[in-house]
Amino acid sequence: MRVKHVDEILKIMRNVEQIRNIGIVAHVDHGKTTTSDSLLAAAGMISQRIAGEALALDYLKVEQQRGITVKSANISLYHEYQGKPYVINLVDTPGHVDFSGHVTRSLRMMDGSIVVVDAVEGVMPQTETVLRQSLEERVRPILFINKVDRLIKELKYTPQQIQQRFVEIIKEVNHLISLYADPEFKKKWQLDPMSGMVIFGSARDKWGISIPLAQKRGIKFSDIIDAYNKGKEAVEEFATKVAPLHESLLDAVVKFIPNPREAQKYRIPKIWKGDINSEVGKAMLEADPNGPLVYAISFMRVDPKIRRLVATGRIFSGTLRQGDEVWLVNAGKSAKVLQVSIYMGPDREVVDEIPAGNIAAALGLEDARAGETAVAVSLKDKVPPFERLHYVSEPVVTVA
Ligand code: GDP
Repeated sequence: MRVKHVDEILKIMRNVEQIRNIGIVAHVDHGKTTTSDSLLAAAGMISQRIAGEALALDYLKVEQQRGITVKSANISLYHEYQGKPYVINLVDTPGHVDFSGHVTRSLRMMDGSIVVVDAVEGVMPQTETVLRQSLEERVRPILFINKVDRLIKELKYTPQQIQQRFVEIIKEVNHLISLYADPEFKKKWQLDPMSGMVIFGSARDKWGISIPLAQKRGIKFSDIIDAYNKGKEAVEEFATKVAPLHESLLDAVVKFIPNPREAQKYRIPKIWKGDINSEVGKAMLEADPNGPLVYAISFMRVDPKIRRLVATGRIFSGTLRQGDEVWLVNAGKSAKVLQVSIYMGPDREVVDEIPAGNIAAALGLEDARAGETAVAVSLKDKVPPFERLHYVSEPVVTVA
């Protein structure tokens, strides 16, 4: 966990090039939770305000042990790449495949995915399903081949066999990309391990490395096998000093996942059915913070501390401000944004405003359901929502 001042994070969030919105997708048990937890432990943030409260730190430990990822709709991570700071929003994705729209709602917030594949099991049916769904939403994948420790310890693979296994998995994933990606991305999004789009490692042991990184550091597969043969301390040293998983993964995220502006250019025409030549259409293509507000709400969850419903969504255009009057397109009514916040570790940190491209939490939108689109009041009756929702009203009981 890093202690960060909320103003510092807001400054980064105003610069859309320094934002990435991602999620982790995987077949069950391939290591999604372990990977999220290891990213959170290393790159998660807490605000100075919280850090100042000793009690809160204890609370944090408890939260971490329980696996915070279970609860938060989004976790903002802090990462520096080539001397520049980035905010990487890690969006919660459903742990199981369902057809109720949860998956699409998570994917709507993300521009990139870390696809986690167990090195022993390889590509499984749910890997295919989640990859297909993300590609349909034009979410760009990178690959994390996890549980490499099992190839070493359990299967006692030689370096050649390990390499062969990676080649097989990458080939299968690339095959799925060429099957399911839209025509313009079938080739462009193929995973090239030589350029660092594939990380291999162990989420449990917290190390991860790409081929270019291994070359740069002069590491061979045999060195990793040696570390495991030497024992726990050698593996820990490798994980902390040579190839920390969070660094390798987040470097690849910054490098290969598009920033929100780049992504919205090709994602909006696919995921939104309105007129992209209209003022609001253009503002969304540009992720324009000065455009009319379009805030797509993906989650409505109760914040246990304040016992109130919090909306979490992505701002595709405009700036979400405290006090804003917004129009809920599906509900067909207006609402007032009472509070705007960002996720820092286990807490939401209240801010005045958040610009387009980011993921924001809002209070005051209790009338919205997950999947709702909130827009500037000036857009009332002028724009279609991202998703059509049916609000079921109270059943009318008639007594005969
Ligand atoms: P999820 O269902 O995708 O969220 O998977 P989890 O993160 O819960 O992991 C499933 C199981 O695999 C758990 O028992 C983890 O401890 C284990 N696991 C996760 N990562 C690794 C790893 O790198 N190596 C090994 N050997 N086990 C792992």
